[in-house]
Amino acid sequence: MNTLYLDYAATTPVDPRVAELMASCLTLEGNFANPASRSHRLGWRAEQAVESARRQLADFIDSDPREIVWTSGATESNNLALKGRVEYLRSQDAGRPLHIITSSIEHKAILDTCEWLEDKGVEITYLTPDADGLIHVSQVAAALRDETVMVSLMAVNNELGTTTDIAAIGQLLADHNAVLHVDAAQAVGKIPVNVREWQADLVSFSAHKMYGPKGIGALYVRRQPQVLIAAQIHGGGHERGMRSGTLATHQIAGFGLAAQLVSDEGADDMTRLASLRDRFETRVMALGGVYRNGSEQWRSCGHANLSFDGVDGEILLASLAKIAVSSGSACASASVEPSYVLKAIGRDDALAHAGLRFSFGRFTTEADIDFAVEHLSQIVGRLRR
Ligand SMILES: *Cc1c(COP(=O)(O)O)cnc(C)c1O
Repeated sequence: MNTLYLDYAATTPVDPRVAELMASCLTLEGNFANPASRSHRLGWRAEQAVESARRQLADFIDSDPREIVWTSGATESNNLALKGRVEYLRSQDAGRPLHIITSSIEHKAILDTCEWLEDKGVEITYLTPDADGLIHVSQVAAALRDETVMVSLMAVNNELGTTTDIAAIGQLLADHNAVLHVDAAQAVGKIPVNVREWQADLVSFSAHKMYGPKGIGALYVRRQPQVLIAAQIHGGGHERGMRSGTLATHQIAGFGLAAQLVSDEGADDMTRLASLRDRFETRVMALGGVYRNGSEQWRSCGHANLSFDGVDGEILLASLAKIAVSSGSACASASVEPSYVLKAIGRDDALAHAGLRFSFGRFTTEADIDFAVEHLSQIVGRLRR
């Protein structure tokens, strides 16, 4: 039996055009060489593929190719941004008090890194969202201190799809020393992403959330003014000393084309997705006893996070045999704890447990939506009886 995939926020399938390009970067006949090999043409060719991908991503986010550092994914980019900045600042002044502002609904790659930094003496303020899942610029302003060195917030929340007004926060920080780090892993393809308009200093990306492969990501590191960070992986001095390791030509070329495709087709995709999402949500909410989690107004086009009255989330999830969706975020769903994000927006345990995230993407069709609504109505009806 086929399973209908409605979990694009956990990962996206690779676009076939991307897969084809990647396959051409693997074998002897293809562009397989080490991009750092300077002694032969095959190395130069691989380097060209890497640099052309760097330009594709840079153009897409309105930056300079020299501001892109390849990493293994957004988890590593987040680690590099936070630890790398703290370590750099400590190398300049070991005794300086360091304060970071983030939120309680960030991805675990931020929250766990912050917890680690707290153990190392960094003070962290965790802003709490309102009942709609929103973090406001006024909260950042109120938490800002002289010793604040970084504000780290996600552009689009992975569970709720809610958006943060990053440009307003960038503006707030324009005359403060704190750098702005943005986790944009969920934002690409769902909202416009422009690091200049955001006035961001460090921005994390992940290819597998945007129809590229898993295992490759990037960190945007601003050059003007130059944001300095300490490398977290040493060995060979690749990526202008910020991240060593042989560059994975196939992954990077795939990521570059994925960025190009979102750049070319993303605006149309967003309009289409918003209308599919609305079609889905309207029909499911018409069942009654269904609550939307997160703001209706301030959210990306790809998510619908819904809680179902009178239905246990785990049982609902297990009964939805024909569609692949997630409860809480995929990263947290190994445990049966209710979602920390739904708890943070004030859902009680029962509704937090009953929350399901449906997420849509490039290959979702109207027929898929109708099929999912039908399946969901049957299962919810049966469980409620
Ligand atoms: C998926 C995701 C990550 C982790 O990205 P990986 O590339 O899988 O390491 C980080 N932040 C957000 C918001 C995400 O959605």
